[in-house]
Amino acid sequence: MLFGAVIRAFNVKVWIFASQQQRDQQLALLKCTPCPHCKHTGALNRHGVLRGYDQQNFRNKTVRALRIFCSNRAAHQGCGRTFSLWLADKVKRLFLDTQPLWDFLLQATTSGNKSRAFDQLDSAMSASAPWRIWRRFLKAQSKIRTALSALAAPSALAAPLQSTHGCRAPDDPEHAPPETPEAATINHLKEVFQNGSVTDATLDPIAAFQVQTQSFFF
Ligand SMILES: [Zn+2]
Repeated sequence: MLFGAVIRAFNVKVWIFASQQQRDQQLALLKCTPCPHCKHTGALNRHGVLRGYDQQNFRNKTVRALRIFCSNRAAHQGCGRTFSLWLADKVKRLFLDTQPLWDFLLQATTSGNKSRAFDQLDSAMSASAPWRIWRRFLKAQSKIRTALSALAAPSALAAPLQSTHGCRAPDDPEHAPPETPEAATINHLKEVFQNGSVTDATLDPIAAFQVQTQSFFF
């Protein structure tokens, strides 16, 4: 099963699900699921929740993820470690959900005006929030690009390597090279998750990235 394969290949500290339904199906199978740390089957138990603030609950902490414990108590032979189950639209230590985060980054890279892009979200976050989020995005560039390149080569960057009998018009704005590395990352996300083979219409590109790579966007 692709999902299981993806889990094993990437970060084993979190499992990220496209929907609550998928998460709950996995929860129902917990006793027959191997621990991502020690691979032992039969010792996984639900073990509380991770709480934090988010968009819908910016005054009170809310449940952000479920914790799972690989039991080493009594007759269980697990490893005693924990991991957490997340839904695709949440990013660890980020107040915004992935859809408004995507809207913000898309706007900010298109217009170059981060404050205005952020204002359009009508978010309860502070005025410094867009800069903090932008810095996190900048810091994560190479990790994001590496993960994306493993899924599909970016066509705009690949274009100069193509031979002269390629059929692209050099002045076609659709295929003009992106202006900045950040815009290139956003375009690559669009290519892979809005127009590509791993597109899931129910997920924004950042949520889809998180499900596909089983790691947080940043
Ligand atoms: Zn374990």
